[in-house]
Amino acid sequence: MAFNKTEYIWMNGKFVKWDDAKIHVLSHVVHYGSSVFEGMRAYKTPRGAACFRLKDHSVRLFDSAKIYRMDIPFTPEEIDQATLDIIGANRLDECYVRPVVYRGYNSLGVDPSRCPIDVCIAVWPWGQYLGPEALDKGVSVCFSSWNRMAPNTLPAMAKAGANYMNSQLIKMEAISHGYVEGIALDVYGHVSEGSGENIFLVRNGVLITPTFAASILPGIIRRSIIRLAEDMGIKVIEQNVPREALYLADEVFFTGSAAEITPISAIDHIKVGTGRCGPITKKLQQTFFGIVSGAIEDKYGWLTYVPEYKGVPV
Ligand code: PMP
Repeated sequence: MAFNKTEYIWMNGKFVKWDDAKIHVLSHVVHYGSSVFEGMRAYKTPRGAACFRLKDHSVRLFDSAKIYRMDIPFTPEEIDQATLDIIGANRLDECYVRPVVYRGYNSLGVDPSRCPIDVCIAVWPWGQYLGPEALDKGVSVCFSSWNRMAPNTLPAMAKAGANYMNSQLIKMEAISHGYVEGIALDVYGHVSEGSGENIFLVRNGVLITPTFAASILPGIIRRSIIRLAEDMGIKVIEQNVPREALYLADEVFFTGSAAEITPISAIDHIKVGTGRCGPITKKLQQTFFGIVSGAIEDKYGWLTYVPEYKGVPV
């Protein structure tokens, strides 16, 4: 999907025209994948655009940076404000938000310590990540022949650019075999996650999802769904999940900021449950979309409303 360009990208504290937001080809990140990033949505509500769990995303951004010894030259509050400003300056009432922190241009040894830490935030309208009918009809997926990263190789708890080389292998293989997405196992053979989504299964009314130890990204939608389910009185278990438990589940779904709550209709051509969006998935989906659209009261304080941008972008 090509970009739906907006006017400005926030780069190191400045508003830069979309087409001018460029970096040098010898920047460290281009060669060694030295970046950490976030992906968040701002939703359209009757009170204007609202970011979903803005602060939780900046906490994870700073956590990812900490793992890689990257000293972000802004505070989390400054990043949050910059996010609100760039959405406001682009006059968007809903969008995807992509903050990225990367090792920049100075020297090209593997040791990154002499390269600057640069920070950008881009925002643009982005539709349904897994296809226009995904939320409703579900997606057909496969298990990948690629595993997620072994725990002592690339840390999965960091949302690092380099991890997405692994994600790309999973995604490209799935697409080349005619599936929308792939599910990877960890190196011990337990279910891990999709190339850009966490995964849940429902069996006999219980919601089950892999633990952090299964090389997953600690997803913010994952955490939100666990909370919503618990508040609905649904039992939630975080545990090791064997591959075949997904084939036998009544319902399986992905969660992610881009993918939102996407039902899975079939895995390796084995129908999941009835092959349609199951009742628990539907209920969680409806509650989630109710909250983010402002139709259901946000009792969790998950929304941060974007104020009207009054300044002149410079
Ligand atoms: N796992 C991976 C590999 C991802 O890229 C994402 C998307 N950020 C997720 C899980 C879901 O995380 P979140 O709910 O925070 O978007």
